[in-house]
Amino acid sequence: MNIQEFLKDKLETNQTVLTEFESKELLKQIGIPIPNHRLSSSKEETISAAKDIGFPLVLKLIAEDIVHKSDTGAVILNIKTETEVVKAFDELMQIPSQKEKMISVQKMADEPITELIIGMTTDAQFGPALMFGIGGILVELLEDVSFRIAPITEYDAKEMIHEIKGFPILDGYRGKPKADLNAIVETLLKISELVTKHEEINEMDLNPVFIYDKGLICVDARIILRKPDTEE
Ligand code: ADP
Ligand code: MG
Repeated sequence: MNIQEFLKDKLETNQTVLTEFESKELLKQIGIPIPNHRLSSSKEETISAAKDIGFPLVLKLIAEDIVHKSDTGAVILNIKTETEVVKAFDELMQIPSQKEKMISVQKMADEPITELIIGMTTDAQFGPALMFGIGGILVELLEDVSFRIAPITEYDAKEMIHEIKGFPILDGYRGKPKADLNAIVETLLKISELVTKHEEINEMDLNPVFIYDKGLICVDARIILRKPDTEE
């Protein structure tokens, strides 16, 4: 994937919201780990993708007009047999959508120490800003997140991680292993570099990223592009 050309193609066809599959392919390209995944559109393709990737699996309905997948039942976790694959396929295909429906067959990632949210928004004044937080209620209810204007340094990334109130959760809370902070730093730096280089990217939402004592993996992502400036 040539990122520059990929983004140009998307804008030329007026697609500003990249699907989960496209967003994660782009992340893979810059070295951020994602679960092995494949898109399929028929039952047969879905079964053969399942066999190639191996259980346990997650099946998701991917369509341009489905944004919050779990709200509409478009995410089915912990699929362990071929029979369950067929059942999940049938269920997902019944979810209404005006757009082309595809199934993402993806490896189910191991249970993390905690879920993280890593994002990027564009500030009207300062341009791209990176965001970091711990997933779940810490972000939803308590808005426990940190921000930095891109591009960031390694030092900035470390500060972003340490300054959230939920930091103890990453630091061996209640006998859990310590999270791989270095993997988070590297991920923040990669995203900083990506958005600095590609101004077409207006928003990124890696939600969630699963963090472990060694490494991390991004299980859901959304990238939104900026419509090119119309001529005045
Ligand atoms: P939504 O569009 O609703 O945000 P997600 O793709 O984030 O849907 O899936 C919902 C939840 O399912 C995630 O927050 C995560 O906990 C879990 N999940 C999704 N994909 C995977 C995966 N590949 N492996 C393990 N868990 C996953
Ligand atoms: Mg999500």
